[in-house]
Amino acid sequence: MENKKEKQNNLSQPSAVDLRARSPIVVVMGHIDHGKSTLLDYIRKTNVVDKEAGGITQNISAYEVLHKSGDGVEKKITFLDTPGHEAFSKMRERGTQTADIAILVVSAEDGVKPQTKEAWKIISENKIPVIVAINKIDKSDANIEKTKTELAENEIYLENYGGKIPYVEISAKTGTGVDDLLSLIPLIAEMEGFKGNPEETASGFVLEAHLDSKRGIVATLIIKNGSLTKGMTVVVLDAICSTRIIENYKGEAVDSATFSSPIRIFGFNKIPKVGSEFMAFKNKKDAEEYIENEDNLEHSEALPPLRGKVSGEEIKKIIPILLKADVAGTLEAIEKEINKITAQNAEFKIVGRGIGPICESDIKNISDSTNIIVIGFNVKGDKSAIEMAQNREIKISFFDIIYKMTEWLTEQMEKLRPRVETIETTGRAKIIRAFSRTKERQIVGGKVLEGKLAQSGTIKIMRREFEIGRGKIVNLEKTKVKTSIVEEGNEFGMMVESKIEIVAGDVIESFNVVQK
Ligand code: GDP
Repeated sequence: MENKKEKQNNLSQPSAVDLRARSPIVVVMGHIDHGKSTLLDYIRKTNVVDKEAGGITQNISAYEVLHKSGDGVEKKITFLDTPGHEAFSKMRERGTQTADIAILVVSAEDGVKPQTKEAWKIISENKIPVIVAINKIDKSDANIEKTKTELAENEIYLENYGGKIPYVEISAKTGTGVDDLLSLIPLIAEMEGFKGNPEETASGFVLEAHLDSKRGIVATLIIKNGSLTKGMTVVVLDAICSTRIIENYKGEAVDSATFSSPIRIFGFNKIPKVGSEFMAFKNKKDAEEYIENEDNLEHSEALPPLRGKVSGEEIKKIIPILLKADVAGTLEAIEKEINKITAQNAEFKIVGRGIGPICESDIKNISDSTNIIVIGFNVKGDKSAIEMAQNREIKISFFDIIYKMTEWLTEQMEKLRPRVETIETTGRAKIIRAFSRTKERQIVGGKVLEGKLAQSGTIKIMRREFEIGRGKIVNLEKTKVKTSIVEEGNEFGMMVESKIEIVAGDVIESFNVVQK
């Protein structure tokens, strides 16, 4: 069996024999709305030859194009199609680790924005070659020069602008410049000299993984070196899959695939962790041995048992959530969004997570938790799970749009968080005369300085700005006539019930206790 070190070397540095040029894997990054999806869609529409063939399914998350450059030679380019929503930044980050070249899309209308900088940070940290695509040049508000200046201000130095970063001015909408962009990619790949050895067993990364109700656990992989042939066994951490079916990015069954190709395989024993490395073995026994010998295995996605009660020291109320989603990338993205929703004295805690529909065992596991929120994102619930949840009075909520889910959770947080008592001062008055007390009652006279005093209201008794006690207005009079309210500027007489004796010069403050 090949040991782990050798295998890892396979991934980063293919052995010197049989090396062949490897077509580049490209990731598109940039700020939201700067046109990443539009660009990926445009390239796919104009360059993917076979548009039928079962279509390119939503979660395949990568596609290949054949681009004919100026020299007339067709070159293959693989694009990672990671979703553009802000919540998917983690996936984009992984995209860069997986990719050979990054395209940083910057809108000429908006210039450099926070996610442009975030993407740049990831790109430079991973030291991957980059092409800047200045997009939306068809728009009347486009300001290409300003965008270049802003890029330079952020230390993204373009060719002829103090640096070496190649750039192309494009419109992802009309297609202007996209061909130039595509022509640049193989040039950079050639310069970088990406290589692979087709004779080795495949290794690469997991792009996507989910449980399909008909086909079991499905994973999209991108091969970075070697080849995968039907019958080989693929290992991702502790997840294992004998490949009986390999599909290309179009969903067509193929017998083998080699580097830079996105593929789908079926039948993992557990959901492999997205972003992790995969390795292929010619025979299953070697694969199994490899897993057994691996120490410190990180574990694949699985629904962990529910943790018990939160420690008493926590002041914050913990609202537990069980989260099921269709694919691992989405699960992680929405988890990140959920963690952003907090209140001063409460927070959500994801106590269970998993891929696939909500099933009976999920509900069984959580039946002891009180007030647990169960969310299905892009998944349904098994009939038996829904029945069981109804019997146990557990509510399941389903969503397929992230912001709808976060809006709803924000409302839930507002409903479920402990109320904080705050005191709202409604009026202040100065005591001018104070009469003697009988038992705990006392007649006083004064003037309202601000706000108002109300019959039955509670008051604080303040002496030299310190609260010395509290009381209640039992009786209120204005010009010797009983009244329910005395407004600012008016004099009053009143009977107060309190343990403290009020004296002339004290200030009383009326207040309401508000639950916020
Ligand atoms: P993403 O969030 O970066 O994936 O951005 P999208 O691709 O969703 O684009 C955001 C909006 O900008 C959409 O309404 C696009 O139609 C529009 N858009 C993207 N590229 C261009 C372009 O080159 N020109 C024009 N006029 N609109 C564009």
